[in-house]
Amino acid sequence: MTVAAIDPGAMLGVLGGGQLGAMFAVAARRLGYRVAVWDPDPDAPAHRFADRSVTKPFDDDAARTEFAGGIRAVTFEWENVPSSLCARLEQDLPVRPSSRVLRIIQDRVEQKRFLQAQGLAVPTFHALGSPNELVGAEVERLGFPLICKTARAGYDGKGQWKVQDSADLRAVIHELQQGAQPGMRWIAEEFLPFEREVSMLVVRGGDGAVSTYPLVENVHEEGILRQTTVPADVAPAVAERAAAMASRAVQSLNGIGVFCVEMFVMPEGRVLINEVAPRPHNSGHYTLDACTVSQFEQQVRALCGLPLGEGRLLSPAVMVNVIGSEISCVTEGAAARSVWAVSGAVVHLYGKRTVRPRRKMGHVTFLAETRPEALSRAAAFRTSLR
Ligand code: AMP
Repeated sequence: MTVAAIDPGAMLGVLGGGQLGAMFAVAARRLGYRVAVWDPDPDAPAHRFADRSVTKPFDDDAARTEFAGGIRAVTFEWENVPSSLCARLEQDLPVRPSSRVLRIIQDRVEQKRFLQAQGLAVPTFHALGSPNELVGAEVERLGFPLICKTARAGYDGKGQWKVQDSADLRAVIHELQQGAQPGMRWIAEEFLPFEREVSMLVVRGGDGAVSTYPLVENVHEEGILRQTTVPADVAPAVAERAAAMASRAVQSLNGIGVFCVEMFVMPEGRVLINEVAPRPHNSGHYTLDACTVSQFEQQVRALCGLPLGEGRLLSPAVMVNVIGSEISCVTEGAAARSVWAVSGAVVHLYGKRTVRPRRKMGHVTFLAETRPEALSRAAAFRTSLR
């Protein structure tokens, strides 16, 4: 079944107004659409690009009516917007991807069980209904180190603990108990000594057609994405396996929109899915400068039932995030601005007024004719951030 197209000129809605929402709004406006942004934070970057802004809390019924008035379709920029709000909006409007997709993805236990049911490999895990369940035969079989994650609302390494040994286990249980709320769940997961972290953007259009981007390689620091390199330096067989798994995961979720599938590659070439994001992703920011059509334009196209664009890579690229106070290395003083003069460097700053540790403030994409050259430009920049 093909969805009806929404033509340029229409107003589109986006839930969440961070940098991903801002980049969606810029892409939508470039294609002639108008954009309504709903984010309770009046300083959220996407409000600057909105034709209409809503800043009330997500559970405000009057705000929902205000937001929905005159818009033709809704998308979201992150998976922690309330799925109940999406379900309510869905009664009157297409929400893409759907509230069903959000419900599966918002809960790590549901998401991992869904992926396993499709025959896709994920790290061995156990669902925990209470922190005390970290002590028990099942978790013991995972061995140390292990990773404990909250089932819901974790991102950028928040809600995640690495447990090195049994002494650590007691400290982590204590910490989990401090933050526990009724009905909360956690997972205990085997720690994987992976060789690489990779991810792949998969876009599913309104006619069920799928368009993929190249496999990229990611480096995280303290749970936050530090750097993405494209193309990934993996054997062709591994890239094919990862691409097949990512496409299958997205096809089976059956949603319309942009998805990012994050995976671990083991030394022997085994690929496991870490998580799926039902939206454009930080590891896909390189598409803005290095691909025919960016992940944000694809989000607009999928949302509006238009043909998907081509995700072809035009140049090797390395994207480096600018995090917290590192922003001053890009914005303050002549010496700090040397990155602006680097050949092939494209600077993106999100316009966030408040600098906080671990907050993503911008990114720089380094394009070059060869992958090693892009990597060396990125490495020089990373040194300047220290
Ligand atoms: P997540 O929030 O699940 O994406 O985790 C953030 C980062 O923590 C990942 O990108 C990995 O670098 C690391 N990580 C998460 N799960 C595991 C695991 N099971 N084994 C090793 N590292 C992990």
